[in-house]
Amino acid sequence: MSVTRRTVLKGMAAAAATSVTGVPKALARERKKPPADAVGMLYDATRCIGCKACMVKCKEVNHLPPEPGTKVEGMYDAPDDLSGYTKNVIKLYREGDKVSYMKAQCMHCVDPACVSVCMISAFRKDKQGIVTYDPAQCVGCRYCMMACPFNIPKYQWDVAFPKIVKCELCRHRLAEGKLPGCVEACPREAVIFGRLEDLKADAKRRIAAEPGRYYPKVYGETDGGGTQVLYLSAAGIPFEKLGLPDIGDQPLPELSETLQHAVYQGFVAPIVLYGALGIVIYRNRKRQSGEEEGDK
Ligand code: SF4
Ligand code: SF4
Ligand code: SF4
Repeated sequence: MSVTRRTVLKGMAAAAATSVTGVPKALARERKKPPADAVGMLYDATRCIGCKACMVKCKEVNHLPPEPGTKVEGMYDAPDDLSGYTKNVIKLYREGDKVSYMKAQCMHCVDPACVSVCMISAFRKDKQGIVTYDPAQCVGCRYCMMACPFNIPKYQWDVAFPKIVKCELCRHRLAEGKLPGCVEACPREAVIFGRLEDLKADAKRRIAAEPGRYYPKVYGETDGGGTQVLYLSAAGIPFEKLGLPDIGDQPLPELSETLQHAVYQGFVAPIVLYGALGIVIYRNRKRQSGEEEGDK
């Protein structure tokens, strides 16, 4: 039997659920909520025409180089998937007569696993709930890549000082009063930006108004503890077909941190070890960086 990311996640959830039964209630972690002024995006797959204007704009506003991809040769920017140079990708799902586009990007989870595992807070959740990344803090351990249930953060494998790359909801543009690049570029309003609560209400309104058009669920409302990027799919196309996994409603950090607290209760050693390891890696990277600067 092949072991997929999904089977591992389900196994973790099952194991944690069993073990947590024996954990005193006081150790169980409280469910996190989005901040009061949380913002997010709503992608409506039924409106998307696959033009990829959002991909082009995403590269432009984030100063990311083109990637020719493996399926289209030449100078075209045609990444097959998210990568160290692509934060947003439009994918095509086709099965029989069922066809849909899918916009893959960071989900800005309400309780993000990437933030939970990042030992020195290179990943953080800001006051609007945007999951941010600070390359100056990052030690390159790539725990965030392993922890993310949506397989989003990517690494720049081919450079001396690599960064983790993922969508940060164009926070640099939001700070200037602009819309996220992909939202501004979309000719169909297939992806919109706004207050999370307004987006949820809008998504539900759309389903209620045209039940024959939509799959009857807003993905991200509760999935994995909730996400600030929400999805609507066409009738007859479940979200799993679009690559959005069925991970239940419990956030992964809630399971892992509850277990961690139960296992390490009263022991400081693992935390000290964890911190020390981070500092060593961080110093090494700084030193290496200084040596390379000196070589220039
Ligand atoms: S989708 Fe992954 S990278 Fe994005 S916030 Fe959630 S856990 Fe972090
Ligand atoms: S919000 Fe910005 S970084 Fe994120 S997918 Fe859209 S354009 Fe790209
Ligand atoms: S710009 Fe809009 S319609 Fe075009 S691919 Fe992106 S989300 Fe779809």
